[in-house]
Amino acid sequence: KETGTRESNVAKIKVVVRKRPINKKEISRKEEDIVTVHENAYLTVHEPKLKVDLTAYVEKHEFCFDAVLDEHVSNDEVYRVTVEPIIPTIFEHTKATCFAYGQTGSGKTYTMKPLPLRAVGDIVRMLHQPQFRNQRLKLWLSYFEIYGGKLFDLLSDRRKLCMREDGRQQVCIVGLQEFEVSDVQIVNEFIEKGNAARSTGSTGANEESSRSHAILQLAVKKHKEVTDTRRQNDATEAKSGKVIGKISFIDLAGSERGADTTDNDRQTRIEGAEINKSLLALKECIRALDNDQIHIPFRGSKLTEVLRDSFVGNSRTVMISCISPNAGSCEHTLNTLRYADRVK
Ligand code: ADP
Ligand code: MG
Repeated sequence: KETGTRESNVAKIKVVVRKRPINKKEISRKEEDIVTVHENAYLTVHEPKLKVDLTAYVEKHEFCFDAVLDEHVSNDEVYRVTVEPIIPTIFEHTKATCFAYGQTGSGKTYTMKPLPLRAVGDIVRMLHQPQFRNQRLKLWLSYFEIYGGKLFDLLSDRRKLCMREDGRQQVCIVGLQEFEVSDVQIVNEFIEKGNAARSTGSTGANEESSRSHAILQLAVKKHKEVTDTRRQNDATEAKSGKVIGKISFIDLAGSERGADTTDNDRQTRIEGAEINKSLLALKECIRALDNDQIHIPFRGSKLTEVLRDSFVGNSRTVMISCISPNAGSCEHTLNTLRYADRVK
């Protein structure tokens, strides 16, 4: 495969919508599937409405994106459309980011979970190619979450982390564990472990994870020749490597959680406000990127601050907007599509 000329051909920002299948619970409630996908490129939402005299009618909303994937599209195909094209750019000093956005239950985690697995497979294959084989390149994985504006390491017992910026505006997350990965199986274990850590909390699994952003990063680093025969530990070695490129997979908090700002519970309100702020800031940053703006408003939230180095220089952004097909989710679905539309 050529890598030299390919990078420039890969879109800087790509917005993809994925519709999940309607489920048994929705069918048993006699909810209709109100989302129709056409030619993998656009979709129609049939919004059920009532007139003042209570006669029912349908308002149609049409949206067009880089790709629209219907409920029959597999995770493998999602990978081919979203992440696969940007993998070679990681070897060309690019910081790539892949987001899953959408309301709770729309398929974000289902969509995101297999992507790093496939990515590691492709990256490791590239590391073995002749042009990279003797360059002392290694692949490192980390997995953390942002919850209520604070950072927690999902691979070391939810240890609290803090973020620093060095003089060259590089983001450094102090204490974040990084693990060298050279095969796919181990990645699966890391994801399972991290996802389990994500959902331990007093309020119950789904509740908790829907209020946090989970960030899995894969970084390709170049290492100095080690003359010392004593084996370095992983933490020292990970730090000593120079990042060539990286890709971040971000399973965002449920988009509806940003509206929790009027909840009776104070903690819920604070978290809702934080989520709202971060999703707005993210949208502004991606728009600024798209317009080649010099000033990227990353200071707007913890999420965008953490991703700062992915918004400057060579970057690639893929936004996967996940939507539920049922009539009961219509308002959230329209909100998600409008958000995606603004990003594009
Ligand atoms: P979210 O992370 O956005 O809250 P999930 O990924 O947990 O949503 O998905 C909610 C439920 O729907 C899960 O049971 C999941 O397995 C199922 N699901 C989501 N997307 C799909 C899909 N494309 N095909 C089949 N099942 C799906
Ligand atoms: Mg989820």
